[in-house]
Amino acid sequence: MTDIAVCPGSYDPVTNGHLDIIRRTASLYDEVVVGVVNHPVRKGKTLFSAEERVAFIEEAVRDIDGVRVEAFRTLVVEFAEHLGAKVIVKGLRAISDFEYELEMNQLNRQQAPQIESMYLMASPKYSFLSSSGVKELAIFGGEIDNLVPPRVAKRLQEELKR
Ligand code: ADP
Repeated sequence: MTDIAVCPGSYDPVTNGHLDIIRRTASLYDEVVVGVVNHPVRKGKTLFSAEERVAFIEEAVRDIDGVRVEAFRTLVVEFAEHLGAKVIVKGLRAISDFEYELEMNQLNRQQAPQIESMYLMASPKYSFLSSSGVKELAIFGGEIDNLVPPRVAKRLQEELKR
């Protein structure tokens, strides 16, 4: 049986930190499904449409075997069950991620105790990298080429540069 892992997130837009987690997850499981939350509750309206967020990731993971990208609009655990995935894998940066993830973990466990969540510590290089930080930099014309894939950098500049 193939082991499938889900890497869920809003990915608005994907950063090199997300891609690091996706790549590391792909080295541990047969298949990785990157789940793009269609309408994130926590973050309100997204800058990019679900279609564009999916396309950014698809382009960036083309060289990684066994990874595919899908948008979803259900509970994460329902999405994982529907795919036949055993595990949800998330990246953990600072203390703030921990608090939020701990709460989500307890809630997900109540919903579907058979699905386990696993956490990979952010690589030091990406520990302070977030989609919202990159958007803020883009607004003020900051250097983002080393933080996101090339197409994302271009689109951020088009959407946000003042
Ligand atoms: P963000 O918090 O950047 O908006 P998402 O909601 O898209 O990210 O999060 C998807 C997952 O990726 C979460 O598990 C989040 O903790 C993780 N993640 C986000 N940025 C990084 C990073 N720089 N390094 C490791 N994991 C990250």
